Amino acid sequence: MLEVDGLVAGYGDIPILREVSVKLAPGEIVGLLGANNAGKTTLINSLSGIVKPMSGRILLEGQDISGTTARQRVELGIIQVPEGRLVFPEMSVRENLLLGGFCDRARPHRPRQMEKVLALFPRLKERLQQPAGTLSGGEQQMLAIGRGLMAEARILMLDEPSLGLSPLFVQHIFEIIDQLHKNGLTMLLVEQNLNLTLRHARRCYVLERGHIAVEGTAEVVRDDPRTRQAYLGL
Ligand code: ATP
Repeated sequence: MLEVDGLVAGYGDIPILREVSVKLAPGEIVGLLGANNAGKTTLINSLSGIVKPMSGRILLEGQDISGTTARQRVELGIIQVPEGRLVFPEMSVRENLLLGGFCDRARPHRPRQMEKVLALFPRLKERLQQPAGTLSGGEQQMLAIGRGLMAEARILMLDEPSLGLSPLFVQHIFEIIDQLHKNGLTMLLVEQNLNLTLRHARRCYVLERGHIAVEGTAEVVRDDPRTRQAYLGL
C-alpha cells in the first residue's frame, strides 16, 4: 500500500534518514523501532509531507507522492498521530474531533465518523464538552487517535502512543490499536518500547542512526542481536 524507496531526508542540508526503504501492506501493523534520535519521527514527518525528501521516493498504491504537500497527504488519507498528542488544549474534546475531520474528503462524513470514534472511546463521549487540556495523558492520547480517525485515515501513523502513560492506559491504547487492526486499518507504529511493539506488530523495522539496521517479522527482529545493539548504541 505504501512504499518508501531509498529515502534520504533531513533538516536544512543535513540528512538524517539515509537510504531508508520501508513497505506497508494493506491492513498491516508495521512497527518502527529505534533508540532516541534514530530518526523515527523524521520518517513519520517525511511520510506526512512535513519533511521534504532530498532523494528517494514515497509511493502510495504505486503512485509517486513524494512531491505532494502535507495537506495533500491528509487528503490521501495518510494521517499522523503526533508524539506528545498535541491536542488543542483550549478547545473542547468535540471541537478537537471535528477539526480532525476537516479535510475535504472527511468533512461530509463527520457525523458518522464521530459516532464510530465515540463508540471506540466511550470515555471521550462522557467528556465531549470538556477542554482537551484538562484531560489526563491517557485520555489525550485517545483524543489524538480519535482525531486521526476522524480524518478517515487509510494509513494511521502513531508516534510513540505509549509515551508517558500509566501501564493501564498503555494496555488500553494497545487494545484499541488491535481493534483498529481487526477493522482492517493499515498502521505504522513508532515506538521505543521494544517488547510492546513486538507483541502487536507482525513486521518491524529497526532504525539506527538514520538507516534500517534490522527488518523482518517480529520474531526475526526480536532474535537479531543487532536489535538490542541499536538500542544500546553499541
Ligand atoms: P525520539 O525517540 O527521541 O523521538 P526519533 O527517533 O524520533 O527520536 P528524530 O526526532 O527523528 O528521532 O530526530 C533524529 C535527528 O534529527 C536528531 O538528531 C534530531 O536532533 C534531528 N532533528 C529532529 N528535528 C529537527 C529539526 N526540526 N531541525 C533540525 N534537526 C532536527
